[in-house]
Amino acid sequence: MTVRIAPPAGVVALMERLWAHGHAAYVVGGSVRDTILGRPADDWDLASDALPQRLIEIFPGADYENRFGTVSVRELGVAYQVTTFRTDHDYADFRRPHRVEFGTDVGLDLARRDFTVNAIAWGAGAPPDAAGRPTPGLVDPLGGVADIDARTLRAVGEPAARFREDALRMVRAVRLAAVLEFTIEPATFEAIRANAALAGHVSGERVAAELQKLLSAARPSIGFRLMADSGLLELMLPELAAQRGIAQNKIEGEDLFDHTLRTVDAAPADRPVVRLTALLHDIGKPSTIDDGPFRGHEVVGADIATSLLDRLHYPRTATERVVHLVRNHMFTYEPDWGDAGVRRFIQRVGVSSIDDLFALRAADNIGSGLDPEAHDLAGLRHRVAAELADAVVLDRSRLAVHGNDLMAELGLPAGPNLGRILDALLELVIADPKRNDRATLLLLAESMLADEG
Ligand code: ATP
Ligand code: MG
Repeated sequence: MTVRIAPPAGVVALMERLWAHGHAAYVVGGSVRDTILGRPADDWDLASDALPQRLIEIFPGADYENRFGTVSVRELGVAYQVTTFRTDHDYADFRRPHRVEFGTDVGLDLARRDFTVNAIAWGAGAPPDAAGRPTPGLVDPLGGVADIDARTLRAVGEPAARFREDALRMVRAVRLAAVLEFTIEPATFEAIRANAALAGHVSGERVAAELQKLLSAARPSIGFRLMADSGLLELMLPELAAQRGIAQNKIEGEDLFDHTLRTVDAAPADRPVVRLTALLHDIGKPSTIDDGPFRGHEVVGADIATSLLDRLHYPRTATERVVHLVRNHMFTYEPDWGDAGVRRFIQRVGVSSIDDLFALRAADNIGSGLDPEAHDLAGLRHRVAAELADAVVLDRSRLAVHGNDLMAELGLPAGPNLGRILDALLELVIADPKRNDRATLLLLAESMLADEG
């Protein structure tokens, strides 16, 4: 197979500058792998024998970010990482190397990498004379191209030893297997199974980063099944592992975990919040199995989802969006809902979450073996769109009277009672939007005050 690697112009410019200064220059890792696979490559990482100090001299303005030899260089408006060839030593806590040793050999640099398919370089060593531009080519000492052709994920070196050095590699393995739709080679998979317990040493942030990448795969279920079968799931996401074996009367012969994974796969890959919610939407079911069964699972599930996402250090805003959707995923629409009912539904869910909730329900329907638009989802969408097109009043800010009007016209003092009256007015306007005019609302407020005596 002839492989054509065509990095963006900025990367080529960086490589040429390194060669012109008498250094080796290669692109390595994910971008080489993805190009060979015919997938779009995103981050192009470079490797060179130039030491970090030297890189900063060659590329003025570059940033030396960490002690692992990675320098960030901007070229044509894009920041690229250039890493000095290195070997890693003295791993501590199954996480990071304590000591790195810089080297001049691209082969040694490739041997420290996690999987053969990630250990291919494309480029050239230092040119014999600074004027000459070397001819770049592939460096593939570990058989990465053959493994790409066979769609196989294989650890570099002895798998168990590599996973004990850095437990994150096991999580990367299942994520990459799902994203690339590769099979994990048996000895590599066995080593994951044997060392799954070490996944507890991976920080929440790093698990979350892998989880997000897994959730963007065409079929994340591949990765979650590998996690379940290897024991990683029980350690990293026990709340999800608890769904295995729980019966569902949705699809013949499938359990709650199967339903969750079908729902995740059916959710749109380019909507991370919806995908994550799909994963967690029924997370409350295992603990509510004796209540009904599953009565209130969306409320219990919201709490479980909060603690799970907090443990993984998800950003607060993302957690809030997902938890809100979990809590509201059990709506049942009937075509005989009045327009006020539709408006109250929009108010409860919130305009900014409604599209996500509909996308979740469509996926949940598919995950239950139903048509995506089952239970008249299309009808509800249509009615919600019609209400929103009418610019309906859904919060206090759009009321025709505000707190200061009530204070001026009715002599009300500022305070919690004022807020209560405004909320009551809002409810009345949602029930009947024609009430949203100043005179009507002042009259209604006055009669409320009279009723309160
Ligand atoms: P993607 O960017 O598509 O998620 P990637 O393989 O490029 O996948 P990065 O995290 O960008 O992943 O890492 C770049 C390269 O660094 C990898 O291809 C691999 O060669 C190496 N690498 C990353 N993480 C590890 C690790 N934990 N152990 C060993 N090598 C690693
Ligand atoms: Mg990458």
